[in-house]
Amino acid sequence: MQDTRPKFVFTCQRCGRCCEREKGVAVYLSDIERWSRDGTIYQVFPSISISSDPGSISMSLDIDEGRCKMYEAQSKECRIYENRPIACRAFPLRHDGSGFLLGDKECPGLGKGEMSKEALQEMRSAASQEHEDEAKTAAVLPALQALLLKEMTKQSEEAYSKLSDEEKSKLEEILKKDK
Ligand code: SF4
Ligand code: SF4
Repeated sequence: MQDTRPKFVFTCQRCGRCCEREKGVAVYLSDIERWSRDGTIYQVFPSISISSDPGSISMSLDIDEGRCKMYEAQSKECRIYENRPIACRAFPLRHDGSGFLLGDKECPGLGKGEMSKEALQEMRSAASQEHEDEAKTAAVLPALQALLLKEMTKQSEEAYSKLSDEEKSKLEEILKKDK
């Protein structure tokens, strides 16, 4: 008999494997925008880092003892499951710009349960959106970082100009010690 099941069949087993990581979970500007709207930003903000390698700036959720900081080890649950980042919504599906592929072939949810058309469509949309968001964020973050640095420099110069001569000398002494 012909197998009529879709190629991609997946039901999350809530094993937490994808929340155990060496590197942080990618966060995109669309996640920040969504979290700002739904209030999740207050919960996640202390755990978001920006890393700046030569030629690439990225945002991610921090890792603590090999796990995403949003993972609750005791209950084995994501603290922000309903509002989790787009990268986690799409997992283990990915889109590379030309087609769908598996981001993790070892995910225990693969091949489990039934895959409704709606669920498949939802995951495909999330994977496509992740691909788009990754590119958009990579294009905007360097400009955003430059603007923030410019603003910080301006504020530092203003603060410095308000110091008395004595305070300026003390500050210069401290800075010399740090060199
Ligand atoms: S997506 Fe896969 S690895 Fe992650 S919790 Fe679900 S079953 Fe486990
Ligand atoms: S945000 Fe939630 S689902 Fe995503 S890696 Fe962290 S704990 Fe897991």
